Amino acid sequence: MVAIGSLALGVIAAYAWNEAQPDVDVVVPTASADSSATPPPSPAVLPTEPAPTATEHTFNTELHSIDAATSLWVVVNKVRPLEPATHEPSPLIPLTALPGGSDQQLVLEAAAALVALYERLQADGLPLSVATAYRSYEYQSEIYQEYVAVWGRAHTETLVARPGYSEHQTGLAVDVFAASACRIKECFADEPTYAWLVDNAADFGFIERYPAGAQAVTGYQFEPWHWRYVGSELAQEMRSQGILTLEELFDLPPAPTYAE
Ligand SMILES: [Zn+2]
Repeated sequence: MVAIGSLALGVIAAYAWNEAQPDVDVVVPTASADSSATPPPSPAVLPTEPAPTATEHTFNTELHSIDAATSLWVVVNKVRPLEPATHEPSPLIPLTALPGGSDQQLVLEAAAALVALYERLQADGLPLSVATAYRSYEYQSEIYQEYVAVWGRAHTETLVARPGYSEHQTGLAVDVFAASACRIKECFADEPTYAWLVDNAADFGFIERYPAGAQAVTGYQFEPWHWRYVGSELAQEMRSQGILTLEELFDLPPAPTYAE
């Protein structure tokens, strides 16, 4: 019963989110709002000066906290652990609408956004399955220890976050795949679903968190499967500015390794 209620809640949230989502084809006018009210200059005064600041672009990077574990914009990396380390997000919603998602959860807003993204992908004829989403502190500890036993500590730390340092613990990150042959593998980047995500995920509020060539900043190898919900405002800003990482957007120090 709990699962059914949660699913219904997720669906309602997804619909509400769809209502609120602007049409992606809408072009935001860049001219100043009052330019249309200004009468056209007479030929005698041409050429006119361009309006100097009306089109200047500003983005408020302080709209949400990057420190609070419950914030949509929380930045978690090897030098920015969750506070508290055992943080448990809520409410967590099962991703029942997606293949592989029935045992996986995200926080409400991220779950609704992922459902909306999935519906659009499906309409475009592309597959998407969930590998993993929310991971608790305890579960992350188990995974970390298993990797250390097999790979050793140094290599593990390029692959798996320490407990308390994982984006998956925020309930805002999801690992996805299309063909099972490339599940949690770099070859996912060669699939059409990945190309679609690169182009469109920002409209649903998701960013690629561990892009290629950014290990010195993020601390992780290229993970084309790992997508992080930050909300469409921030995600679209990063896409339009060509900013690849949260660290760069928020002018944070790179986090290649743990402090100790
Ligand atoms: Zn991941």
